[in-house]
Amino acid sequence: MITTIAEPTDEQLQYGGRLIREGQLVAFPTETVYGLGANALDGRAVEQIFKAKGRPGDNPLIVHISELSEIAPLVTDVPEMARILMDAYWPGPMTLIFPKSDAVPDEVSAGLDTVGIRMPSHPVARALITSSQRPIAAPSANRSGRPSPTTAQHVFEDMNGRIPLILDGGACSVGVESTVIDARGDVPVILRPGGITPEMVKIVAGAVRLDEHIMAPVAEGERVRSPGMKYRHYAPKAKTVIFEGSPARVIKSICDRYDAELTSGGFPAILGFDNHDYGDRHVLSLGIPAHPDEAASRLFAALRELDTEGRTLALCEAVSLEGIGLAVMNRMGRAAAFDIIHL
Ligand code: AMP
Ligand code: MG
Repeated sequence: MITTIAEPTDEQLQYGGRLIREGQLVAFPTETVYGLGANALDGRAVEQIFKAKGRPGDNPLIVHISELSEIAPLVTDVPEMARILMDAYWPGPMTLIFPKSDAVPDEVSAGLDTVGIRMPSHPVARALITSSQRPIAAPSANRSGRPSPTTAQHVFEDMNGRIPLILDGGACSVGVESTVIDARGDVPVILRPGGITPEMVKIVAGAVRLDEHIMAPVAEGERVRSPGMKYRHYAPKAKTVIFEGSPARVIKSICDRYDAELTSGGFPAILGFDNHDYGDRHVLSLGIPAHPDEAASRLFAALRELDTEGRTLALCEAVSLEGIGLAVMNRMGRAAAFDIIHL
């Protein structure tokens, strides 16, 4: 199959919509990461997503909508807290968990009795949903185990020959996947952190809880509420270690470890902040500490670059857990299998 990367013109959006209706896959930009979309109401179309990604069958997909009226057929109930959150933060980087209706095929929910739904804000994502006249099931458009794609080129690296069309909307602004929230009870529970932060949830909901697996590895066979959390996603080939503590200590430890790796014939890289001095060592920028949103938008591209360059060791500076920093540390932590050195 020939994979085309196309500007999202009206004509390409119409073509993309037609492909979705015909049961084919289309990759498209969202404000979080690029998605790999299929008609969410067609189990056989959705199966193609799992094939193209090499994704485990027990990892559910998020259904993307462009109008609130698309929710009713997909769910059996809209919990009060979900309504409060969607009023505040849709369209945007937030997925809500609903009890699913029979219209949602088991392939989408991976056998769960719930469905995750999100209304993205990206104009191309919304235009594709509108043009297809279908809700679109879409996970991130990477091969399973690779970092999520934040540019059309990243999608092409992973999906060339596997899908007909990639709509190119430039680089994604948020850069990490959506916040997944279970709002079926009185207190919303964040299952996966993302662009809508715990602080933002608390402002409108009065309270918020974090799932215990956000900053901890999942033990073999352990049950998790957000199935994706148990996979060691985002894993670069380089051994990845995170350093947390005062900047001076972090910089010193990273430099020492970097130099030792070079001496023993390795090829290290640093994921660090621009205002920290690493001399002429190779640094992939996370922006500056006061702006964790920069780290969010750069992290996945940096993890991909490690593989492209054949790095053997990645030494990462920890980001503050505040705001979107929690999402950055969740993804970085999983890339490093939570190998975090506290200094
Ligand atoms: P991706 O779109 O690749 O980031 O993956 C979607 C992730 O959303 C899954 O790995 C789950 O962790 C989460 N998710 C999707 N649907 C549900 C659901 N019904 N219940 C809990 N988590 C979900
Ligand atoms: Mg993913």
